[in-house]
Amino acid sequence: MTVSNQGVRGSTDDGLPADHAFVCDDCGRRWYYDRRSCPDCGRSSADASAVRLETGAVVATTTVETTPPDVRAPNHLALIRFDGVRLIAQAADGDLSPGDSVRFDGSHRLREGRDRTDPRLVAVEDP
Ligand SMILES: [Zn+2]
Repeated sequence: MTVSNQGVRGSTDDGLPADHAFVCDDCGRRWYYDRRSCPDCGRSSADASAVRLETGAVVATTTVETTPPDVRAPNHLALIRFDGVRLIAQAADGDLSPGDSVRFDGSHRLREGRDRTDPRLVAVEDP
């Protein structure tokens, strides 16, 4: 099986920062990955706004040991549930576990050779 990095933000220099989601101006539906229109009301995604994601919960984690030449190895990834969206993003390290609270933090080049930087997932200490 080949595990690619498709589905991880940062494969191109365009698009929203990794810690932002789209939000429909009409119905408030949120989504993370580029799409043509709102899945609920059908309004064009060109009209959508961006919202910063705050705290999410880890659903699952994985570590990709064999990565493309411009991606770090090992590459720690996590599936995260934020308010209204689920997404896959790079974790700062391999210490996350399902159920952990996380937020985006820091400034990293997710791929070598890019000027753009994005945050990675870090654990949030429970209060
Ligand atoms: Zn909508």
